[in-house]
Amino acid sequence: MEELKKIIRDIPDFPKKGIIFKDITTLLSDAKSFHRMIDLIAHRYVGRQIDKIVGIEARGFILGSALAYKLGTGITLVRKPGKLPHKTRQVTYDLEYGTDSLEIHEDAFQAGEKILIADDLLATGGTVAAVVELVEELGVEIVECAFMAELEFLGGRKKLPDGKVFSLLKF
Ligand code: AMP
Repeated sequence: MEELKKIIRDIPDFPKKGIIFKDITTLLSDAKSFHRMIDLIAHRYVGRQIDKIVGIEARGFILGSALAYKLGTGITLVRKPGKLPHKTRQVTYDLEYGTDSLEIHEDAFQAGEKILIADDLLATGGTVAAVVELVEELGVEIVECAFMAELEFLGGRKKLPDGKVFSLLKF
């Protein structure tokens, strides 16, 4: 795990001053690390009933689609407004300054499906908390929210369903 953590690069003051950005592109582009990261996360869910993965635009699509392939499920996309072509349901959530919105297709699920939400990194938890709200309105059951990495000092998991958060690499 320490090896995987080491390969993630810190970029100070990106996208703005004071933020240390965890650049996962170095992990993704290294074949051994990428495969190991996906295998380790997927292993946790082998044998558990998961009907669909929900991937969050854009880096959540990378973990989400690799997990869907490994676990033999489909993937449902949560996207920025205006990108999904069919009827959508939207959620708006607070950012440090202002708000942001995400959308999902209204007919993305069958009632009662068990889903796994995937994103690259858990920071403040605002984004994934909004996605939890969005999918719960559509009547699915959340198995877990899975992340490649988590910035523990930001306490994001407190905003997510109790005991349903997994991150592979903790910073
Ligand atoms: P949050 O809603 O604060 O949990 O963060 C939403 C998304 O922003 C995460 O899924 C990451 O893609 C990205 N993000 C936030 N903070 C960082 C950071 N320090 N380094 C890398 N990505 C970040």
